[in-house]
Amino acid sequence: MCPACRERYERNPLRLLDCKEDSCRALVAGAPSVLKSLCDDCASHFERLRGYLAAMGVDAVVDPLIVRGLDYYTRTVFEIVATEIGAQSAVCGGGRYDGLIAQVGGPDTPAMGFGMGMERLLLLMEKRGVVPPDPGLLDVYVVTLGDAARAAAVQMVSGLREAGLRTDWDHAGRSMKAQFKYADRTGCRFVLVLGEDELAQGAATLRDMAAGRERKVPMDGIAGTLKAIMGEK
Ligand SMILES: [Zn+2]
Ligand SMILES: [Zn+2]
Repeated sequence: MCPACRERYERNPLRLLDCKEDSCRALVAGAPSVLKSLCDDCASHFERLRGYLAAMGVDAVVDPLIVRGLDYYTRTVFEIVATEIGAQSAVCGGGRYDGLIAQVGGPDTPAMGFGMGMERLLLLMEKRGVVPPDPGLLDVYVVTLGDAARAAAVQMVSGLREAGLRTDWDHAGRSMKAQFKYADRTGCRFVLVLGEDELAQGAATLRDMAAGRERKVPMDGIAGTLKAIMGEK
């Protein structure tokens, strides 16, 4: 074990996993994977997360050796890597820290976040020709009822965002009524409702918030449909 890892072995043993020293890498190579030690709750949480990533078309690689420099993380940590900007390619790193807010005296609140390298991000935006989006209100808020609808919504939300529509949905497990109330507060132009009926019909309920009108729109090609409606006015 290298001197740095020996020194932090008691208070920060996980750092051994991402140590770059040869002696430590040899130790890690023979160590059991952290994925083998997940409790049932964490294992099913991780499964669900991977399902969401797949639904969003995120090309995620499971790396059991990622360690963040701070100790408050719970469950998943992640890095976002870009290949275009050379060897120092992690643009962003973070994770979930469900215990942190309670630890500093707040209410028990689930949380996640990340740190980002500003210079790397700017470099990457330039390489990809990304223009910063116009800040403003939401175009669409997606309201869901039930687990199946949530799973479908992941895909829908990411498709709408990719089509350039400012879209959000519930991250807090709110009731349907509370989701509507929240959507109203965001000042969004449209609410899309996904429930059992909608899934069975393959059509979401679209509410035009200003006009107060509702209609069904096919889930297939929904981004194009919304953009066409927005172009009408
Ligand atoms: Zn080491
Ligand atoms: Zn667990």
